[in-house]
Amino acid sequence: MAESVKVAVRVRPFNDREKNRNSTVIINMVGNQTEIKDPENLSADPRRFSFDFSYWSHDEFKERPDGYLEPTGTKYADQQTVFNDLGKGIIDNAWKGYNCSLFAYGQTGSGKSYSVVGYGKNQGIVPLFCDDLFDGIEKKRSTAGENEEYQVSLSMLEIYNEQVRDLLNPKTIAIKGGLKVRQDPKKGFYVEQMTLKQVNSYEEIDSKINEGTRNRTVASTNMNATSSRAHTIIGINFTQKCPNDVGESMTRTSIVNLVDLAGSERADSTGATGDRLKEGSAINKSLSTLGNVIKALADQSTGNKKVVVPYRDSTLTKLLQNALGGNSKTIMIAALSPADINYEETLSTLRFADRAKAIKTTATVNES
Ligand code: ADP
Ligand code: MG
Repeated sequence: MAESVKVAVRVRPFNDREKNRNSTVIINMVGNQTEIKDPENLSADPRRFSFDFSYWSHDEFKERPDGYLEPTGTKYADQQTVFNDLGKGIIDNAWKGYNCSLFAYGQTGSGKSYSVVGYGKNQGIVPLFCDDLFDGIEKKRSTAGENEEYQVSLSMLEIYNEQVRDLLNPKTIAIKGGLKVRQDPKKGFYVEQMTLKQVNSYEEIDSKINEGTRNRTVASTNMNATSSRAHTIIGINFTQKCPNDVGESMTRTSIVNLVDLAGSERADSTGATGDRLKEGSAINKSLSTLGNVIKALADQSTGNKKVVVPYRDSTLTKLLQNALGGNSKTIMIAALSPADINYEETLSTLRFADRAKAIKTTATVNES
């Protein structure tokens, strides 16, 4: 059955730069409504959006002398809260044999990596998901019969300048043009020679993901010295071989794709020049194609079946085809800065997230 993409928005706390400039908060969250004020026109009504989940990251705010908007939402959404809402559902669906995808969208420094992977003990969806998955597997294994088997494999890719690198195989980073993306009539687009590493425990998958993270291409921009201009796709393949309800042997698989997209800001707003600008425009090719794909899918869902969805126009959308319009249960998390200086980018992220709500996917159980 077709089902809408679930969309979550998450606003991060002020960073030091915003604190130092005495930034004001232009976002407010009331229930599932997210409001954004134009800092140049504070007396105007805010724009309002509504999403499946909204996460607030500030403790209570004091009223400022300049009469500025004071958020009334005081709910602080920590990593566990976000995981309970979004990650647990992915766990349940993976056990049932559905493909699942989650992708994080937003400008550099807005909190995409914090939400997807996390930092240090503030673990994001990926490590919390892996921990929960292996907890479940350990339980099953402890009582498993002879013909019962639970297997997890990991892949980790980076798309940088439209080229694909295998983060689990640093040797591929030197391959000119990156790894080839091929098309299979059944499987759809896939990456040739991609590493699919079998992992047997949480510790093992965690250390592999950390290894992959260290292999990421990182280029600094004015906005955030450690920000990545690349898209990262973490793929977790989960296979269960066990008896079904009537005792027959079955194989059930689920592919879970967790995607940390590159910053959505335009190259010109980051002060990028030369090579950096080129990177920026190539990344924009993938991201602008993602925008076009989402627009086309949204048009389709309102009944315009003739729209062609331009998956083939970028590497990112080829690899995310299933996640976007196919056999997958999909979640998008839009990361937001709360600060007045990021108004344009934040508004553009909210509009993007708003369009994504219209997309429908049809996931079916992968079982044989
Ligand atoms: P992005 O991946 O979008 O470029 P990051 O996830 O790296 O941004 O976040 C930028 C900074 O903000 C990091 O230092 C991160 O720890 C912090 N941060 C982001 N989101 C949150 C949050 N929800 N709560 C606390 N800190 C956050
Ligand atoms: Mg990041």
